[in-house]
Amino acid sequence: MRVAVISAEAVPYSKTGGLGDVAGALPKALKAVGIDSVLITPCYWQTKGEHLWDTAIHDLNVDWRGGIYPAKAFYSEANGSPTFLIDAPSYFHRDSIYGYREDHERFAFFNHAALVLLKRIGAAPDIVHLNDWHCGFAAVEIASARRWDPYWQNTRTVFSIHNMAYQGGFGMDDLWKFGFGDAFQQNAFALDGHASAMKAGLAVSDILSTVSPTYAKEIQTAEYGYGLEWLTRQRSDRLIGITNGVDYDVWNPETDKDIPVNFNLSDLSGKAECKKALLEHFSLPVDLERPIFANITRLTAQKGIDLMMQVAGDIIAAGAYIISLGSGEKKYEEFWQALRNYAPQQVGIYRGYNEPLAHFIEAGADMFMMPSKFEPCGLNQMYSLRYGTIPIVRAVGGLQDTVQNWDAVSSSGNGFKFGPYRADRFLERIYEALFAYSDKEAWSVIQQNGMREDHSWENAARKYVQLYQWALS
Ligand code: ADP
Repeated sequence: MRVAVISAEAVPYSKTGGLGDVAGALPKALKAVGIDSVLITPCYWQTKGEHLWDTAIHDLNVDWRGGIYPAKAFYSEANGSPTFLIDAPSYFHRDSIYGYREDHERFAFFNHAALVLLKRIGAAPDIVHLNDWHCGFAAVEIASARRWDPYWQNTRTVFSIHNMAYQGGFGMDDLWKFGFGDAFQQNAFALDGHASAMKAGLAVSDILSTVSPTYAKEIQTAEYGYGLEWLTRQRSDRLIGITNGVDYDVWNPETDKDIPVNFNLSDLSGKAECKKALLEHFSLPVDLERPIFANITRLTAQKGIDLMMQVAGDIIAAGAYIISLGSGEKKYEEFWQALRNYAPQQVGIYRGYNEPLAHFIEAGADMFMMPSKFEPCGLNQMYSLRYGTIPIVRAVGGLQDTVQNWDAVSSSGNGFKFGPYRADRFLERIYEALFAYSDKEAWSVIQQNGMREDHSWENAARKYVQLYQWALS
């Protein structure tokens, strides 16, 4: 079986969030279970030169908007498996990866160029695995080409939803420019008078998946379906949830090069060293008895920042530290800054994106807050589990699937979770966590329960293989 994974971002070439982690790790995991795959992703201005091994194709002439766009394709295996990076400077050499008025055109081009590239490099893959709205265009192109182009006749498409909230909407008129002029194509994109790339992907792909079993159910409801729940319900017989894995080559406290002292399940002394170094890094007084509550995230409403704002004062009053790494909406950035000003001895903040610091915080913190409004899978709670940092989460999406409440009677559970999106419920769990933290023996059991778990990609990759087989059958 040959698989082509197409994604707008992939580690280590580019990353803004979980999609990058997943698309970077899945091809390597597929290879480990015996599946040949190729990854296709854009070459951004942000993609580091050291990751571009070779110019594989100098003249990837992409027929585009009535002319020819002279793109190039680089080759790399920096993520551990064959990757082609499409180099189209006018679309991808920009200050940020997303956030432009013509994003839909940038990714429509990327999709078409990816399919041109596949034809150029050999026989059609059995499976084209598409990710999020950015890849809705390729789903439609393959579904329509299958009717007349023998090359695509036996190819099946799998469309993975990493976040239903971003749907790639644009005006129907633009469809013509991208070559989607016939009725089948227009219908695929049409949603309430505009075009939606997410809707197109959901409507025409052979199999749909999302990144946790709970999220697969949630996106069939009005609360989490963002207006597309009718379609996910309609196609629920071909929709399944597969929880993302963790790349333990990157996220492993035993080998992590971004943390001052390595540690593992049988010896957590290094974690205390990391905590001390982390407090010093943020110029906070070192008191190892006080717990550190951490948060690393994009600062958007999705991540439950409003709830964190409501409980932060109580955490400070309880004498704990708070360390936050993130950037995003201004009001949230201002809040963390104000909290730091209010309690400079207890609060450390870093505004921005900083991968090594994310590792350092995971290693040094005691608890990780993730009170998300919705969370398709979530990766940080799984990183936290491996680093002995106890997650306190809302029971939603992948958080529901990966975190089990601590139960002192049976000594089971790996964290703390609450249901309704309410600050008082969140605070209840925070106090429970503080209570457990004060009992060193209990705390160590919770840590061990989490650290022992295996969320590696191998399991997830096997499930994807079953999914691909299903698509082909
Ligand atoms: P989402 O994809 O919704 O942002 P996930 O939990 O699935 O959420 O993945 C987020 C990923 O991005 C994690 O690897 C996390 O460590 C990383 N991340 C988020 N914000 C930052 C930041 N400011 N600095 C470094 N890493 C970050």
